[in-house]
Amino acid sequence: MTPFSIPYGRQNIDQADIDAVVEVLKSPWLTQGPAVPRFEAALAAHCQAEFAIAVCNATAALHIACLAAGLGAGDRLWTTPNTFVASANCGRYCGAEVDFVDIDPLTWNLDAGLLASKLEAAERAGTLPKVVVAVAFAGQSCDMRRIAELAERYGFTLIEDASHAVGASYLGRPVGSGAHAAMTIFSFHPVKIITTGEGGMVLTNRPELAERLRRLRSHGITGEPSQMSVPDHGLWYYQQLELGFNYRMTDLHAALGLSQIARLDAFVAKRRQLAARYHRLLADLPLTLPTQQEGAESAWHLYVVRVPFEQLKLSQRAVFDAMRSAGVGVNLHYIPVHLQPYYREQGFTDGDYPEAERYFGEAISLPLFPDLSDEQQDYVVEQLRNLLLFLPKA
Ligand SMILES: *Cc1c(COP(=O)(O)O)cnc(C)c1O
Repeated sequence: MTPFSIPYGRQNIDQADIDAVVEVLKSPWLTQGPAVPRFEAALAAHCQAEFAIAVCNATAALHIACLAAGLGAGDRLWTTPNTFVASANCGRYCGAEVDFVDIDPLTWNLDAGLLASKLEAAERAGTLPKVVVAVAFAGQSCDMRRIAELAERYGFTLIEDASHAVGASYLGRPVGSGAHAAMTIFSFHPVKIITTGEGGMVLTNRPELAERLRRLRSHGITGEPSQMSVPDHGLWYYQQLELGFNYRMTDLHAALGLSQIARLDAFVAKRRQLAARYHRLLADLPLTLPTQQEGAESAWHLYVVRVPFEQLKLSQRAVFDAMRSAGVGVNLHYIPVHLQPYYREQGFTDGDYPEAERYFGEAISLPLFPDLSDEQQDYVVEQLRNLLLFLPKA
């Protein structure tokens, strides 16, 4: 028996959250009611964005963001290999080709310098991307100022996958403010910063994108007479203008999200405090700790350390297994996307993105969530310390 069973991430649900969902259950509107626009308005205000469009998950958000950017068959989408597969799959949904830019060795985010040189080569070859998805890995923004300059210069649409980063800020503005990205995506999966069970959001400051995103969320249908070919029908009339989806969020989910926003700042503050505590407790171990880029204040969705397994003559597998047997739910974020069998079938192979692959061979995500107690965190550190110092060498 281990004294603890600690997951790597876990939601925080309080009585106010439960009451908010129950209230919707007793109301006439389970979906398409007032809770969704209230959740959208609250998050837009929190992030200083003009428009917010709630959807059923962040994968759907990425899909309609790509469509709103005009991505289609024959186009290209670039992203980082160090992300969840959804950041790349959204390009495939649109029929576009997906390609990757390797990561920065310090921040583990898409490397803006490598992006610049890849764009230069692509311009010569006539193979520029239409969309770049910049992922705020672990809750820390990429070098968005530089990437936004590149978007301007090369004409691609910059989408920020901030699934990890609601509540983070960059150069003094909240992530999602639209200061650099055309559209920002958040996820509300239970392991993320705030949750709706399943849920996602697209934020933008551009009215034409907002309108398109709303239409794509709901079957491509509009009820707005000015957009219709036959404008003078009754109030019941609608027209389908393009092929859309049912990607709507329900009012049950939105009520939970709205209630969670009240604690968003507290969640992020607690995550920052726990991250700082990890820094202190781990400082004397032979690890690479996460670094923060100047100007980026992470939401600390993940706390990832790199263990030089090879140098220490330890097996990554053995350390993961031993941590898990000790009740510590370590995880690995991420298996490089280009090494997934599906992407290997598109022609990617080992060695294509060496920095992401090296990172993958060394990374461990340690448990981090607002309710992680100091006692649990001490236990996590203790287990890791024992393994690094005393696990038999491989
Ligand atoms: C979680 C996550 C997604 C997908 O979010 P869902 O809401 O589960 O669809 C996309 N990108 C990144 C980086 C994520 O971490």
